[in-house]
Amino acid sequence: MRQRAFAQEAGLPELRKDPITGRWVIISTDRAKRPIDFLRESAKIKGGGNCPFCPGNEGKTPSEVLAYGRSGSGKDTPGWSLRVVPNRFPALGIEGDLGKEGEGLFDRMNGVGAHEVIIETPDHKCTLATLHEKGVEELLWAYRDRMLDLKNDRRFRYILIFKNHGEPAGASLEHTHSQLIALPIVPKRVREEVDNAKLYYDQKERCIFCDMIRQEIETESRMILENDYFIALAPYAPRFPFETWILPRQHSSAFENMPTPYYGNLARVLHDFMNRLDSVLAFPSYNYVIHTSPIGEEINDHYHWHIEMMPKLTKVAGFEWGTGFYINPTPPEEAARFLREAKGTP
Ligand SMILES: [Zn+2]
Ligand SMILES: [Zn+2]
Ligand SMILES: [Zn+2]
Repeated sequence: MRQRAFAQEAGLPELRKDPITGRWVIISTDRAKRPIDFLRESAKIKGGGNCPFCPGNEGKTPSEVLAYGRSGSGKDTPGWSLRVVPNRFPALGIEGDLGKEGEGLFDRMNGVGAHEVIIETPDHKCTLATLHEKGVEELLWAYRDRMLDLKNDRRFRYILIFKNHGEPAGASLEHTHSQLIALPIVPKRVREEVDNAKLYYDQKERCIFCDMIRQEIETESRMILENDYFIALAPYAPRFPFETWILPRQHSSAFENMPTPYYGNLARVLHDFMNRLDSVLAFPSYNYVIHTSPIGEEINDHYHWHIEMMPKLTKVAGFEWGTGFYINPTPPEEAARFLREAKGTP
């Protein structure tokens, strides 16, 4: 305790370790950056142009694999409230087998996978914050529907849902959308989380995420918002300023297997959070990902699915590449306080 006090007096940064990934981060406690200190362009929708995601332009995307809200009119016509289409420039191709091979010490396989785009609303000017809450819930159901469908394909081991919002976060089209990639292998990031959580479970017979949730609710300083089903919190060792995790309060290992009432409750928390984020950081660009259990490992007591939300405020540079450490100029306790005190869903 004495040393801790000394570090704070001298204004030293703090090294913190994330218990789930084992990753260390450097938190500036001295000249902590507040929301106004981040200089950047806001990700406000400008509109105009010829957008392939707008109604009437259905022919400009590959043929849809799912649509909600249309009554009567046929496939790839207007009238939808949400639409899922294959990506026109997919990272992976859907046809063919894996063709796994070794070339000496190198491993290879064919780039087989699915890459889909979820067009969240027909309204070009909408964002997840301004979309009505029912629309956000519909989006979550679409994530689930596509995951359940793609899991029937025996070639896939993992399905990642993610969203890039704003150009700095990698969105090439401003019309609000999410993406899904089905992969023939479990990504390393996820494998590490699942394996570490399993290790913890083997030692303690408890889920590390459930333990973390209990402790954070008690500690309060990193809590952002909650309802009966979900909580949003700033993790103890975040890589990025205002990084936020949203987790189900009760143990739940797979996003796509949640009971029905969870989706509406998650929509409420997500929508509320997006509004807070916009008000605190003035419409930032951001990325989020859904981390759920790998295919074939869905039912377990050790992995707890969650959303990781990362506003795009800083750049990843040489130090991060070289070490895997991240330097975060905003302590999570500060970030959580700003978001907690902000105005949520109007
Ligand atoms: Zn559009
Ligand atoms: Zn759990
Ligand atoms: Zn994760």
